[in-house]
Amino acid sequence: MEIPAYSLVIVGGGPIGLACALEAQVKGIDYVILEKGCLVNSLYHYPSGMTFFSTSERLEIGGIPFVSNSVKPVRMEALEYYRRVALSREVNIRLFEPVEQIKQLSGSANYLVTTPKGQYQATNIIIATGFYDIPNLMHIPGEQLPKVKHYYHEPHPYAFQKVVVIGAANSAVDAALETYRKGAAVTMVIQGAGVGERVKYWVKPDIENRIKEGSIKAYFHSHLSAISEKTVTIRTPQGPITIDNDWVLAMTGYQPNFAFLESIGIKLSDDSLRLPAYDHETMETNMPNIYLAGVVCGGMNTHKWFIENSRIHASQILNHIDRKR
Ligand SMILES: Cc1cc2nc3c(=O)[nH]c(=O)nc-3n(C[C@H](O)[C@H](O)[C@H](O)COP(=O)(O)OP(=O)(O)OC[C@H]3O[C@@H](n4cnc5c(N)ncnc54)[C@H](O)[C@@H]3O)c2cc1C
Repeated sequence: MEIPAYSLVIVGGGPIGLACALEAQVKGIDYVILEKGCLVNSLYHYPSGMTFFSTSERLEIGGIPFVSNSVKPVRMEALEYYRRVALSREVNIRLFEPVEQIKQLSGSANYLVTTPKGQYQATNIIIATGFYDIPNLMHIPGEQLPKVKHYYHEPHPYAFQKVVVIGAANSAVDAALETYRKGAAVTMVIQGAGVGERVKYWVKPDIENRIKEGSIKAYFHSHLSAISEKTVTIRTPQGPITIDNDWVLAMTGYQPNFAFLESIGIKLSDDSLRLPAYDHETMETNMPNIYLAGVVCGGMNTHKWFIENSRIHASQILNHIDRKR
């Protein structure tokens, strides 16, 4: 059977993969997006009641207006927006088709892209795979127990339960406040001296006041050291303490799939940031004709890139591909 050939294969159908597709359409470059899950899979898996920190116009792609009820859109509005964009622009996307392998064809500048459903030839490839698939693990005893969750969806299951939330960034703070307000007894374990500086400005006073008044218990300069079926042990500056516990929400962040990047031949920095090698103007990696787009570019520094500042990667890359033609 003949292998379909494209000028461009985009790996990942998140906001930035979609932005690349729209830019390819503008330039008249034939492409396909291969997405391992549903459309904007990461956003679909965000907490159901989540509000973006960006205003809606900063999440727009392809110059298509994003109208939301409030200044900051919620997850459902973002899903609606990106779905409408993909539908109205007839974006060529194959869903539930994870890319497993990308290999350069011998004696050619082209690549062979393999998924469980088939193979594709590509002259250019954009990797826009984000960072939401692999949680940062704590590497402590008991982390594999089913009561430990690295993804938080909604508060209802945690009502009347003893919940420990690990972390102090937006995800941890949202989970702590939502579960507390649905009747959970919440304890936060925070490695620093306070809640994170980047916590949404309208949420920060809320969590700080709940901690101050004791409605939510917080241990600062502390780490979780062990988890059992009915308890957790926290290493605090005053020494270890063990408390009763039903659920652990480990909001410890996520990381790009470094093994996938390395399997393609993309070089990563030797330091703890594991920054992928790419030209900051064209976004081309050390592998010719393979580009990076979106939050995957930041390595372990997952706070560097967002939708609002990485959607520009689409025009950087497509301008470069266009110039080569
Ligand atoms: C809770 C939360 C709130 C956020 N709020 C904001 C905000 O307000 N403003 C903002 O600008 N940013 C925000 N961000 C960050 C933003 O959501 C991400 O920056 C955004 O999703 C990045 O888009 P992306 O397309 O680069 O990656 P993603 O949206 O993660 O898309 C990557 C896609 O690649 C797919 N994929 C991965 N591996 C493969 C594979 N091997 N084969 C095929 N497909 C694959 C994934 O399924 C996914 O759909 C937030 C992030 C989180 C976690």
